Formats: sequence, structure tokens, C-alpha cells
Amino acid sequence: MDETPVNPPVNKHFIRQIIDADLASGAVKKVITRFPPEPNGYIHIGHAKAICLDFGMAKEYGGECHLRMDDTNPTREDVEYVESIQEDVRWLGFDWGENYFHASDYFDKIYDYAIQLIKLGKAYVCYLTADEWKEYRGVPEVPGKASPTRDMSVEKTLEEFAKMSRGEYGEGEAVLRAKVDMASPNMHMRDPVIYRVRKVSHHNTGDKWCVYPMYDFAHPLEDAIEGITHSICTLEFEVHRPFYDWVINTLNTPAKPHQYEFARLSLTYTMMSKRRLLELVNEKYVSGWDDPRMPTVCGLRRRGYTPESIRNFCETIGVTKFNSLTEVALLEHAVRSDLNKRSPRAMAVMNPLKVIIDNYEGEELLTATNNPEDPAAGTHQVPFSREIYIEREDFMEDPPKKYFRLAPGREVRLRWAYVVKCVGVEKDADGNVTAVHCTYDPETRGGNTPDGRKIKGTIHWVSCAHGKSVEVRLYDYLFTAKNPSDLPEGVDWRSTLNPDSLVVSQAFVEPSLLDVPAGTRVQFERVGYFCADPDGKPGAPVFNRTVTLKDSFKIA
Ligand code: ATP
Ligand code: MG
Repeated sequence: MDETPVNPPVNKHFIRQIIDADLASGAVKKVITRFPPEPNGYIHIGHAKAICLDFGMAKEYGGECHLRMDDTNPTREDVEYVESIQEDVRWLGFDWGENYFHASDYFDKIYDYAIQLIKLGKAYVCYLTADEWKEYRGVPEVPGKASPTRDMSVEKTLEEFAKMSRGEYGEGEAVLRAKVDMASPNMHMRDPVIYRVRKVSHHNTGDKWCVYPMYDFAHPLEDAIEGITHSICTLEFEVHRPFYDWVINTLNTPAKPHQYEFARLSLTYTMMSKRRLLELVNEKYVSGWDDPRMPTVCGLRRRGYTPESIRNFCETIGVTKFNSLTEVALLEHAVRSDLNKRSPRAMAVMNPLKVIIDNYEGEELLTATNNPEDPAAGTHQVPFSREIYIEREDFMEDPPKKYFRLAPGREVRLRWAYVVKCVGVEKDADGNVTAVHCTYDPETRGGNTPDGRKIKGTIHWVSCAHGKSVEVRLYDYLFTAKNPSDLPEGVDWRSTLNPDSLVVSQAFVEPSLLDVPAGTRVQFERVGYFCADPDGKPGAPVFNRTVTLKDSFKIA
């Protein structure tokens, strides 16, 4: 597991302020948070923001964070999703220790709380149909109408709820409602449903239950049972907080947790809803949940993102109470600066043009620095020979003045090798340059010029006899729309898919890259950051472009 510590706090966002105050006043002794994913999909960069907050705050303040699978909805538990969530949380650098739970672990206790509520005279069984329910509930501006059974006695409610529990009512025929306030402008306080009949088996509890608690009733109780101190969730739950507090204050719970809401992450050119991501997978617009174009944690990992870069990104965007759209360029900026520090460099030519060094014989090994940003990264050897490939764009037959790369009669430095001078070109019948002839200066081995002459340009290259052409996958945004989650009425998100989000191409790479294991991250000098894909084989790697070198993110 990754032991890198979470970055030191760079901003005292409101959650940190709340925790500081709670610890200072003694209201909280130990910070206990939870991350409650519904295991119905893979987690994405938005969840990573929540994870960095839930697990990050616990870690920072010496507390603990529980991983709680939210399986209040009785569906088949998908082992694939559960395992992927665990793997991704760990990969992000977090650990729940012994604290792995399921919401369904508490069905017995939650049921007991429902009984407690009934006995307090604060719940009743209601038989309104869905249509009637809507009509009774009304609109925020006008008080709603009481259900005909709102004044049901405690005894009768206990009896009727028991009947619901024994399966004597069908789905939708009866619900248990909390008796709160039918006049509240907050619709979630108008006697919300807390239990409903569902005649389906549950992966954890089997056929034991015919009634299942609603999320709004279950969640505060799960938090209270686990002793959560700070229950952090996204802003859409803000309107649910009064009922959360009502449940906690009305019932005799072992702890009194508090809910705090923050703005969810939305990224430009990115769609984050799990339902949509599932559609992308099912309709085969991507190769799977871990397609490197996906905003999922496993997709980002396969793309070459590091856990540190994701954590840094989450720290940089901060935590606020205002929903906004974050530039995806900021995420790219985070991975670029992290990879700059940790990626070894190697040479790869994306669009090869042959260079023949007329006065060079034989071959030799030259020493290349692995990472100029990290002296501890050492060096490796690169074979050099008479025929090499350079980038086509690094040669111009008729260059402008300020062009410092290769051109007839001009000199350029070959990275780690020699200074060469262009002495001629070969062309095909159409006049296209097919090869360039050079001479090299033996005095310049390693790129130095003992006579002190200035060589402005340095270009990368790969020896034709030693390198190999391999597959590279070049990625762009999946969507052309800046905010694909907020399209004008009637526009199908599929129409904004970017047809060029994946370009499969070739690169001619130096031999040190041919046997790297999947997951290896490397900078192709002057080109971009790449990561070896699991689709590659020894001797035939496949590289995903994580991000180009050029930073489009501007600090405002
Ligand atoms: P949906 O795709 O329907 O929005 P969900 O993302 O809410 O589902 P959950 O598994 O319930 O899926 O999410 C777990 C936790 O992650 C919740 O606490 C939720 O608030 C948080 N979360 C989800 N999406 C984001 C996001 N974009 N930014 C920050 N936190 C998020
Ligand atoms: Mg959710």
C-alpha cells in the first residue's frame, strides 16, 4: 500500500474549521467519518473528492474513517463493484482498518428504532396511493394535507407495521411514515416515508425482510450506531438535514452525529453520473469502466494518474458550499506536475523521419539521465548508430529564422549523443523528404561543444536498428460539450461524444521501453507522459498517453 502521507493542509476549508472547533471545545474527542458508496458502479474522480475529505480528514486528525457499503436498496450485491471500490480507496492511499460495514448490518437495529418511533407516537402507517400521496403532500408554498391515518393510535400502528413486516401488504399498499410537520416548507419534513414494503431478497439478509428502511431514516441511524462525528456529504443532502437532525434528536441514539454538506465536483468535458458511465460501458462507447478516457479511479489509474496527483488535485480545488464547474485542465496540471517529479525520461519518436549519419560507423551506448528532476533516479544506456529516426517536425527544408532544429546546413544536438549537421536530403518522386543526411562531430559526444560554439536546439531520436515501433493510444476528452451533464433540452449526450477521443497510433521507441511492465510511467521526452497498458506484451508494449507536456491550465 502507498504510504505517502497526505499533503499538509494548504487551506483551512470550512470542514477543517468545524473539526478544529469541535476538538477545541471538546464536543468531539476523536474524529470519526464514513464514506458510504452505493456499490452499483465504479468510483470516479468525484467520489475521490469525497474520499479525500472523509478519509483525509480522519487521517489528518488522527481519527478513523469507516467504509460503509450503502445497500439499503435491496438489490443483488455486485461483487465486482464492491471489490473495485475497496481496491480504489486503497490505491488512493487510504485505509478503513477494521471498519468495513454494510448498511444492512443494521437492519435489525433500524427496525427497533422504527418501533421506538411508533411508541413515541411519531409514526403511522399510511395507505395513500402514489397519486394521492402527491396531492396530499402538496407544494412548498402551501401546507400539505394530513393523511387520513395520521392520527392512528400507537397500538394500531404497531399492529399494522407488524403486518407490513410479515408481508401481509403488497408493495405500494402501505408505508410507515414519520409524523413530523405537514405544513413545513421543506417537503422532506412533510411526514416522510421511513419504511416501505419490498418483496425482494437482499444479498446480505436474504428473505428475512419484507420491509426496508428509506435512506433518509437509515443514514442518520447508521451514523449514530457507528459513532460518526462528522457525516460529510454533497450539497443535495442539505435539504435532508432537518430530517436527519429530527431522527437523531427524537430517538434515543448512542451518539449524536452531525451532517455537513459540500459542493460536489463537476469537471468540464466530463460526465460523472454512475448511470451515464454505465451507459457508456454497456453501449460500448468505451472499452470498460477502466477505459483510460473514463473519469473513474480505475480509468485514471490505467491512464497513468498517480494517487498523489489525485489527492493534490482534491486539495487544490478545496471544499466549498457552492456548486461550480472545475476545469479538467486543472486535473491534468496536477498529474503533469507530479509526473514531472517522478517519471523517468526515455526517447520515442511519434512521426519518424530517417537520418543517416554519413561519417559514423558501428554503434555505441550513450548515457541518458533518467530524470533531471531527481538525481537519485540514475541513468540508463541508449544505443546509437548510423541510422536514426527523429521527429518529422524536427526537420525543415526551408525553415524560418527562429527555427533551431535540423535544416540544411544547420547544426542540432541529438539528446545525450552528438551535434550533427544536415548535409543533404533524399526525396521521393513527389518531392517529399524521405531521409536526411548528416555528419556528426565526434568531439561533441554527450552533447558538449569543446570549442564553445552555441547549439540552440536539442532533439530526441531513436536508433533504427535498436528501437521498435509500438502501439500508442492518444486520448482526448470523451465529450466535445463543455458541460455534457447540462445539455439543452432534447440534446442527447451521445451527440456530444468526441469521435477523436481515442487515436491509436505508433511510436518508434528506444529499447529500454520494450519490456516495461504494465503500469510503468514514463515521459517520452518532448512529447508527453505515457503509461504502459495491460494490453501490452513483453517486447510489444502498448502505451497510453496520460497527458501531453503542454500545460493549458492558466492560474487566474
Ligand atoms: P449518482 O451517480 O447517482 O450521483 P452517487 O455518485 O451519489 O450516485 P454514491 O455511491 O451514493 O453515488 O456516492 C458515495 C459518496 O460520494 C456520497 O457521499 C456522495 O455524496 C459522494 N459523491 C458522489 N459524487 C460526487 C461528486 N461528483 N463530488 C463529490 N462527492 C461525490
Ligand atoms: Mg448517492
